[in-house]
Amino acid sequence: MSNSLRPETLVLHAGHRKDPATNAVAVPIQMTTAYQFDSTDHAENLFALKELGNIYSRIMNPTNDVLEQRMAALEGGVAALAVASGQAASNFSILNLCAAGDNFVCSTDIYGGTWNLFGNTLRALGIECRFVDPSDPENFRKATDDKTRCYYAETLPNPKLNVFPIKQVADIGRSLGVPLIMDNTAAPLLCRPFDHGAAIVIYSTTKYIGGHGTSIGGIVIDGGNFDWEAGGDKFPTLNQPDPSYHGAVWTDAVKPLGPIAYILRMRVILLRDMGSSMSPMNAFQFIQGLETLPLRMRAHCENANKVANFLNAHDKVTGVIYPGLQSGVSKANADTHMSGGYGGLVGFELSEGKAAGKKFIDGLELLYHVANIGDARSLAIHPASTTHSQLSAEDQLASGVTPGYVRLSVGIEHIDDIMADISQALDKA
Ligand code: PLP
Repeated sequence: MSNSLRPETLVLHAGHRKDPATNAVAVPIQMTTAYQFDSTDHAENLFALKELGNIYSRIMNPTNDVLEQRMAALEGGVAALAVASGQAASNFSILNLCAAGDNFVCSTDIYGGTWNLFGNTLRALGIECRFVDPSDPENFRKATDDKTRCYYAETLPNPKLNVFPIKQVADIGRSLGVPLIMDNTAAPLLCRPFDHGAAIVIYSTTKYIGGHGTSIGGIVIDGGNFDWEAGGDKFPTLNQPDPSYHGAVWTDAVKPLGPIAYILRMRVILLRDMGSSMSPMNAFQFIQGLETLPLRMRAHCENANKVANFLNAHDKVTGVIYPGLQSGVSKANADTHMSGGYGGLVGFELSEGKAAGKKFIDGLELLYHVANIGDARSLAIHPASTTHSQLSAEDQLASGVTPGYVRLSVGIEHIDDIMADISQALDKA
């Protein structure tokens, strides 16, 4: 099927037309651990990657395959790998390029869980994460040396909601032979990082891709647009003989298959060795969610825009954090990299600080008080007393969290009901 189809069509058709065995139109949930080999030759060829096919569901599964193909098509990439969580996706995206002694450069504006993974867990494995302020893209160049294997950032990081300068940093990276990995969790469809020069895109599918809030999952998508061979000894995991797969050189092995060295190596080495596979049941849930993603993103964006403007005019609100209401470089980055809306996340500050933030949350009747984002339902949290409460007051401020900051993930309920609930909770704050 042509990948030039529009997103509304791809989410329903890419990667699956009918089940080859039953003609079922819905994507079947293939709950099987293993797959019968046709013959010993067939088995030998599959293991030697002379032929691609199903071996064992830790490494591949037909239901997951549909999700992978659909997400790759939607994103404009060449192939994808579904994994157990967004955390697994970000972890694998780095481990596929870095070994002990290597480093990578990462924006300071990232999800706290990713921060811990990179700053503590990977550091303990000997992989150095160099955090830099993304407000100056040149910081990425300055932090790069001959051991730098990749750059990493989020498209629309909360709480600051400053859209990352993807194009500028991707250009710097490409001039130095360093690929940019983008976490696009908060901006599916609104931003296609490959169009701006990113090499790899990851998602926590737990959020907007599912939208239903039933399943944890993640995905890594290979743009197929980065020359891993040109990097010479920068990318030994991809362009040098791999001792854990009888000396395969992944950039050579994929020559008949297309530019999928990065994602193939992630599947047959990292997923094989570390697990973190997505359950086919969850893949099915994400496929169901994906079918309505274009409709939902439109509704999220419209509702968030109305909420942001409402809050902006409210006398208890001292500031609204929302890309559509920014100015200067932040607004320019949002407009360069996003289209169709500014996403569903809105932050705001209450003049009366922490006590008011807590009262607002306690006063909500419709919006859920949860740590999640990207659900079809509207969600709210007061970061200073929850997600960021372990940080010092100074670190909270550096990460964009003031005492009265409230984060909303605006859902797709009727806008009048969302506004009425926010309004009555503000009266109590
Ligand atoms: N990336 C972003 C931007 C997130 O917000 C999250 C979770 O909140 C993750 C990654 C991690 O995803 P998961 O919770 O699916 O492991």
